Amino acid sequence: MKKKIAIVTGGSSGIGLAIAKKFTEQNIHTIILGRGQEKLNEAASLLGANCEAIAFDVTNLGGLPELITGIIKKHGHIDILVNNAGINLKKSALEVTDQEFQQIILTNLTSVFAITREVAKNMVERKSGSIINISSMAAQYGLPFVVAYAASKTAIEGITRTLAVELSPHGVRVNSIAPGFIATKMSSTALNGDPERKQKVLSRTPMGRLGDPGDIANTAYFLASDDSTFMTGTVIPVDGGNSIGF
Ligand code: NDP
Repeated sequence: MKKKIAIVTGGSSGIGLAIAKKFTEQNIHTIILGRGQEKLNEAASLLGANCEAIAFDVTNLGGLPELITGIIKKHGHIDILVNNAGINLKKSALEVTDQEFQQIILTNLTSVFAITREVAKNMVERKSGSIINISSMAAQYGLPFVVAYAASKTAIEGITRTLAVELSPHGVRVNSIAPGFIATKMSSTALNGDPERKQKVLSRTPMGRLGDPGDIANTAYFLASDDSTFMTGTVIPVDGGNSIGF
């Protein structure tokens, strides 16, 4: 059996790092992408020999085909793609500039499409592959002050379904995970210093706490594995009940 090869965008911290940790522990060769070299180095030394870190900004759309071709040349194939890299902007919708809106869409949506297209070409050729997109509660209900982020994540669920239908005949599965509020740098930036919002989050989460990045990693591993071979086009909330909480 050939060792599986995975790409995890934004794999140097938070949820992406937890996913990369789970994959490397399961003997999947995991390529993590991120912008900060120092963060990548730290992650790579934590994850060990099954991890390969590449400094790459996913908004560099023009550089993506060469990046993916290089990875395929080196490893022969890509089995798993986790589109995890993302940024948030918490601001009143009336104050968000066009440039800010575009930057969120470029990072969280356009780059996801562009990297998926390049990786899926190889997966379709090999008639095998699992693509996992990271969505959000912002795509499940009206979360105020994150208008661009909500637009990007809602579209992620749309492209998940479209790609699942288009790629199914070619043996490629596409699914999404919608994390609830998970303890990472992104959520602490959004919630710390805003006790009212944090209280609202916790009060509508039946389990009454933030999630752990490892909770998302376990679901990503399930979707990447042969235990989920009849699943495609789904959006799986991993949220302590936040999306159904009162
Ligand atoms: P973090 O901010 O901890 O991690 C984000 C990662 O993405 C970092 O590794 C960052 O590395 C990388 N990244 C950001 N922009 C780029 C870019 N242009 N190119 C390459 N890498 C990039 O956030 P989380 O772990 O919390 O979030 C991960 C994903 O989960 C995001 O898509 C987020 O929207 C989603 N999510 C998070 C939730 C939460 O509660 N934490 C809830 C729901 C969804 P670097 O800055 O070095 O490039």
